[in-house]
Amino acid sequence: MSHRAPMLVVSRCLLGSACRWDGASRPCPALAGLPTGWTLLDVCPEEDVGMGTPRPPIAVVDYLGLRLHETASRRDWTVTMERWCRYLARILVADGVAGAVLKARSPSCGRGDVEVFRGPGASAASLEPGHGWRRNGDGFWARALREADPGLPLINDEELAEPDVRAAFLECARMRADRQAEPGGPALFISPA
Ligand code: SF4
Repeated sequence: MSHRAPMLVVSRCLLGSACRWDGASRPCPALAGLPTGWTLLDVCPEEDVGMGTPRPPIAVVDYLGLRLHETASRRDWTVTMERWCRYLARILVADGVAGAVLKARSPSCGRGDVEVFRGPGASAASLEPGHGWRRNGDGFWARALREADPGLPLINDEELAEPDVRAAFLECARMRADRQAEPGGPALFISPA
């Protein structure tokens, strides 16, 4: 069997980039210990759609579906973010990405641990962390990755620090990269939406 070095997509702030809403980064020490030869591809959906850094805080709001709002102005980024994330996720999956390391609890990158707020009448104050009506949502980027490939291994930065969870994730990503290197693996083609 031929081998291909796995490619992981990683939330950019975890790689030390100062791209968070407040201009900070969240370097993830566990990333430093990844096997050599693995390719890390950084994505910051909030920067990439043009929100700017620093930028106003945003939140996931449940109002006629899940929406992405700036908490103070209520500017709605839903359509822009969904389009970009779905487009990029389909490209990366078609190109053979083997897994994703995502920032926990981010309204964009969080995976199953994002606070979701009720809309549309919520005041800016009620969109403060801790006031959500549930805390198990996906961020828009994580959701797009799941939609593009429900089997894509996903892990957050906190889980990556747990040896057993980390080992299982890396094994899944390695197996996936090996499968893609086999003849007849996924083609690098994206059909029109
Ligand atoms: S959590 Fe995601 S959207 Fe937020 S700064 Fe990090 S990479 Fe960007």
